[in-house]
Amino acid sequence: MEKGGYSNPNPPPPPYSSVGQTTVVVAQQPLVAVQLFREAPVRTRCQYCSSEILTSTAYETGTVTWLACAITAFVGCWLGCCLIPFCIDGCKDVVHSCPNCHQVIARYNRM
Ligand SMILES: [Zn+2]
Repeated sequence: MEKGGYSNPNPPPPPYSSVGQTTVVVAQQPLVAVQLFREAPVRTRCQYCSSEILTSTAYETGTVTWLACAITAFVGCWLGCCLIPFCIDGCKDVVHSCPNCHQVIARYNRM
């Protein structure tokens, strides 16, 4: 008698989760991300004026420049060829500075 053909006028409410909002603990990346200061300008936060900036890069004579000079001289290019490394940006250190406050933020040493 009580099976089938009988529609319940009050359907059961959808299952309600009493747990509520599940707090998902996301492992946050540390804010101090390892910035790779190489030849290209880097988007970072200036530690001096604390503004979001894109570093302006400049090439500076570094250890590798002198090393390349020494090697060129050693190989036998005495006639000014050892000065070539000083003209090649690829042999120089890259200095990243802040375009806002012009402080040097990082230096990319090729060594
Ligand atoms: Zn700055």
